[in-house]
Amino acid sequence: NREFLLVSRPHGIPTDENFKLEINSRPVINDGEVLVETNYLSVDPYMRGRMSGVKTYTAPYELNKVLTGGVVGKIIESKNESFQVDDIVEGHLNWADYSVSNGKTLRKVDPDLAPISSALGVVGMTGLTAYFGLLDIGKPKEGETVVVSGAAGAVGTIVGQIAKIYGCRVVGIAGSNEKNKYLEDELGFEATINYKTENVKEALKEKCPDGVDIYFDNVGGDISDAVMSLLNFHARIAVCGIISEYNNIKPSTGPRIQRYLLNRSALMKAYIVRDYHERFDEGYEQLGEWVKEGKLTYRENIINGLENAPQAFLGLFHGKNIGKQLVCVRSE
Ligand code: NDP
Repeated sequence: NREFLLVSRPHGIPTDENFKLEINSRPVINDGEVLVETNYLSVDPYMRGRMSGVKTYTAPYELNKVLTGGVVGKIIESKNESFQVDDIVEGHLNWADYSVSNGKTLRKVDPDLAPISSALGVVGMTGLTAYFGLLDIGKPKEGETVVVSGAAGAVGTIVGQIAKIYGCRVVGIAGSNEKNKYLEDELGFEATINYKTENVKEALKEKCPDGVDIYFDNVGGDISDAVMSLLNFHARIAVCGIISEYNNIKPSTGPRIQRYLLNRSALMKAYIVRDYHERFDEGYEQLGEWVKEGKLTYRENIINGLENAPQAFLGLFHGKNIGKQLVCVRSE
């Protein structure tokens, strides 16, 4: 059983040296437990915070312990009557070939709905994050302008499409022309901005002639400053993530945003997807329906091999992915 451990805490951008692959024996299960063989592993920006050893909304990863994250896999042994061998499940498990679970936090995945990898993306935590943040905080109405940062990533691509389902005009901000072409040509975003080559504020003025009603923020920092200066009255801002700051050694400061909020009597609310756990079933059902109806499409950036999991994770901070970044540990 190959397992990835965190062996040192990153200072700034993580490096390969922070991770170590160990080979241990395959775990043995006790009564009430199941053995899950990993098919796909999710790598997520929030893991950077857990690697720091600082308490955020999740406990930090412990040094010299196996890393954990979202996994989709197959039950290959079961001593738990709720699960049968060959069931496909999703849960928070190890960065490893095999994980043991007591089943309490495992969710059965319907392999007929969509490829099972999507249980980590569009019909998984990623989709729920987009769904609840946009609908509960953003409260989109037909004809409104929605700006999404990190627009070509896992959450951003779903947010933009849900905003379109609600009849909004969607403007995406992402880090390459290839990404922006995908957003406009395949997902129907009305306009896009490449923050690496354009002046974001000037481009936004041009592409949001009626101002910004909803800002779905995945990145924070300068991009958010630019968007916030163009808010409409009673605008809503869903703070989902601030990836531009996750590798900062010194936290940035910036009381300037309060001025923008006050000038426009705007609402800014941060959230974590777990806040909505009592409504997860509603989210899964609606996202699944939209996928079936073809209203939600999705892309996955899949890297093969457990040994490449750290590279897949690091790629998030260099914008290597379009859509959801996954690692295929063993194909179905
Ligand atoms: P993504 O698939 O969006 O991957 C990260 C993307 O961020 C990269 O592809 C890159 O795209 C962009 N990026 C990286 N560094 C920077 C930077 N310095 N400035 C601007 N953009 C940058 O990841 P997710 O969709 O999984 O997550 C998106 C955000 O949502 C993250 O901030 C994450 O922490 C947050 N999140 C929050 C949750 C919650 O419960 N609140 C749950 C899940 C995610 P580009 O080429 O455009 O730079």
